[in-house]
Amino acid sequence: MSELVKTEALVLRKMDFGDSSKIATLLSPDQGKISVIIKGGRSGKSKIGGVVDTLNHVELVYYSKKSRDIQLVSQADLINNFTGIKENLDSLKYSSAVLELLYILTVSHQEYDRLFRGAIKILKYMNGEQNMSNYYFLKFFIFLLQELGYEFQFDNCTFCGTELIRTRGAKFNFELGMMCDNCSKERIYSYEFSQELFEALICLSRKETETLIKNSFVDNLIYFLERYLMFHIDEFKGLKSLQLI
Ligand SMILES: [Zn+2]
Repeated sequence: MSELVKTEALVLRKMDFGDSSKIATLLSPDQGKISVIIKGGRSGKSKIGGVVDTLNHVELVYYSKKSRDIQLVSQADLINNFTGIKENLDSLKYSSAVLELLYILTVSHQEYDRLFRGAIKILKYMNGEQNMSNYYFLKFFIFLLQELGYEFQFDNCTFCGTELIRTRGAKFNFELGMMCDNCSKERIYSYEFSQELFEALICLSRKETETLIKNSFVDNLIYFLERYLMFHIDEFKGLKSLQLI
């Protein structure tokens, strides 16, 4: 028995299947990651094929069968297609990275309401202010790691407990965590923060106020988080979307 499900969703990925169909992977706030087949979706005449396109925010109706990995779409309506993002190479790159992270880190049959809302909000920001896309991506990256339980302990030195914000800089060892300048002298570390860069990370992770930070810091912190994730997930080899351009 299949049941008819209606849900909002964000299209993460889409690919050709067979001669005329498409398979798409979407994230829904209450069903988690869903894969669907759109029969005849490669034809220009297919309305569903047009609506269910990568990056689109849609309302989807599909026949759900738990025993099946790929569900059959019955109807799809467009909510937002983020045309601003699609006009700008930089925002396209960072929005693709948002989709890529969601694709890698979410699973089926799980609720992701907050994560879903957060992703839509960030895409709306990127759509409106394309030149700030890297900053919005960084904010999303931190939010996503916190939402999914990769909570990082950044406030104090792992070894002596010193409050790191008061020290000259912080070092990070991907196995041991964050350490102060003093404790790092006799230990190996893989990433070094200047005091200013470290403060930027703390501000962003605390979500206290809108913190605007230097562009070079944004790239630096994205690089750090990517390495952080690579350390925690063996199969993760870095964000392909960011290597494209
Ligand atoms: Zn210490």
